[in-house]
Parts: sequence; C-alpha cells; structure tokens
Amino acid sequence: MISVPKKIPMRQCVACKEKKEKTRLARVVRTPDGRVLYDAGGKLSGRGAYVCHNINCLEKAVKSRALSRALECEVPDEAFEQLRSQFEAQEEKNG
Ligand SMILES: [Zn+2]
Repeated sequence: MISVPKKIPMRQCVACKEKKEKTRLARVVRTPDGRVLYDAGGKLSGRGAYVCHNINCLEKAVKSRALSRALECEVPDEAFEQLRSQFEAQEEKNG
C-alpha cells in the first residue's frame, strides 16, 4: 500500500531560493498600514514573503533587496533590527 502523502504547501525563501515546507519558513508581512513585521503565527494579513529561520537568510534577503521586492516596499532599518532580534530569539528557542 502506498499512502498518499499529506499535502504540505511549499514556499520559497526569498534569499536562498530554497523551497521548504511553509511551516519551516519565517513569514514576513507588510501590513495594510505599511509596517514590516515578523509574522510568528502566520496569521497577519497583508503581503507576505518567506525567509528561512536564520539570520543569514534574513540579512541576505534585506541586503540584496529581495525582501523589498517581494513585499513591494522598503524595509526600514528599524524593521530589519526588529526582525533580526525576533529571529535570534527564535533560534535560541530552537537550540
Ligand atoms: Zn533561505
């Protein structure tokens, strides 16, 4: 018997272009009021982009402007700083 695999949506990291299961990527959202936020719960509305859960991909996404392009807006320095600290907190949690 071949069991039908459960369909898990795949998303692509904007920095390294790797495709991973949606749940294994961090979602960054541009909210309707124009803020750039880390969407920990995956529930914020707005335009989203996916990045691997690591600082390297986050920095690459911001510095190469891939994230700005994906979100179709500028990523302000303070939003980047905030994202970075949230990613760091997440990395510590994951070990
Ligand atoms: Zn990546």
